[in-house]
Amino acid sequence: MHELSIAIEILDIVEREAAKHGAAVVRRVNLRVGDLSGVETESLAFSFDAVKGEKDLTRDTILSILRLPVKIHCIPCDGEFKGAGHMVVCPQCEGLDTQLLQGEELEIEDIEID
Ligand SMILES: [Zn+2]
Repeated sequence: MHELSIAIEILDIVEREAAKHGAAVVRRVNLRVGDLSGVETESLAFSFDAVKGEKDLTRDTILSILRLPVKIHCIPCDGEFKGAGHMVVCPQCEGLDTQLLQGEELEIEDIEID
């Protein structure tokens, strides 16, 4: 249950941030998840809902997940394209010298509190 441990970790971070700002309630957590992160977002949302209810602080917290597609930069032609993985060929110049710009994210963008 990989996603359950991620959900627990997110809650830990959220609780620490809420305590730091003296929040009574956490309204929403905005999460960014790249397509290469290996995270099953439906399972993560389910796990988060299962663990959040134990505390008043997070009982009604909405976990909002933004999926980020894989974006790749081609160094030879300075192009940018969407890919499906790490090892990809540039569709514009067929170059192999590429770098990943986006797709591995697993991060909290912001937390809305009251
Ligand atoms: Zn290229």
